[in-house]
Amino acid sequence: MPSSPLNTDVALGVAIPSHNARGRIARLGSVIDVVLAHHGYPAVIEKLLAEALTLTALLGSLLKEPQGQLTLQAQTEGGIIDLLVCDYLGGELRGYVRHDKERLADATMEPDLKQMFGKGYLAITFDQPIANERYQGIVPLEGKNLAEAAQNYFAQSEQIPSLVRLEAEKRDGHWFAGGLLLQHLPEGEEGRERLHTRLDHPDWPHVAIMGGSVKPEELTDSDLPLDELIWRLFHEEEEVRTLAAIKLSRGCRCDPDYVRSVIARFPTDERDAMVGDDGLIRVDCAFCSSSFAIEPKELT
Ligand SMILES: [Zn+2]
Repeated sequence: MPSSPLNTDVALGVAIPSHNARGRIARLGSVIDVVLAHHGYPAVIEKLLAEALTLTALLGSLLKEPQGQLTLQAQTEGGIIDLLVCDYLGGELRGYVRHDKERLADATMEPDLKQMFGKGYLAITFDQPIANERYQGIVPLEGKNLAEAAQNYFAQSEQIPSLVRLEAEKRDGHWFAGGLLLQHLPEGEEGRERLHTRLDHPDWPHVAIMGGSVKPEELTDSDLPLDELIWRLFHEEEEVRTLAAIKLSRGCRCDPDYVRSVIARFPTDERDAMVGDDGLIRVDCAFCSSSFAIEPKELT
């Protein structure tokens, strides 16, 4: 199967100047398989994490700084899932989910957001170290899916009319996920304090309708390059620009030296309590399931 660089594991920026709209479109393939290979989750959790990683790619690719970091975290209460974390740094994605296996087994085939997260919140953190900008928004995890919760995030937390679509599908043992984010940003507003927002601006409904017509199977179709999909949706516009594509990969930043330095900062008695039967301190990375074995005497 021929694969152009705009088919999978890539995010592409889009601008529709005549409607003051911008957006991101992303598709993930092997990145999801690699992330999931480290975990061994049930299919329902795999699908949710695939969608969450796609959302993370869409939001992460909005960052202006190459070293900017985007973190998406679901904080939950009384749901099947008790933690979901994904992050993005320079095109690298990682994520994990902590959930109650027994409750999931008892749940319906496709649990809704309420069953999954209980009284949950979605926290999205944009971190841009060079500009020293850190911004976090939190919204209730409400709606029928993660895409709707993300749309609420932009409407409530950032006051930006937005459209978010996410889809993930497993075919022949491999996951494919795609996402589309479109936003209405009247000229010159980007990066400035928002003094007034018109959520009913006449520019927006047209873009939302065209973007909203994207089919789930188009988002996950790895034979359909992202620029072609954008063209399908917006070819009637007088101008549609695509920005530089961002290659996406799976990356974990856990590092044995860093883990050792963290453990070394614990008082001796606490460190002694961490030593296992084999005489080693074991620290696991929740993102990639790597296990680090530390010799206690290396720490002194
Ligand atoms: Zn790791």
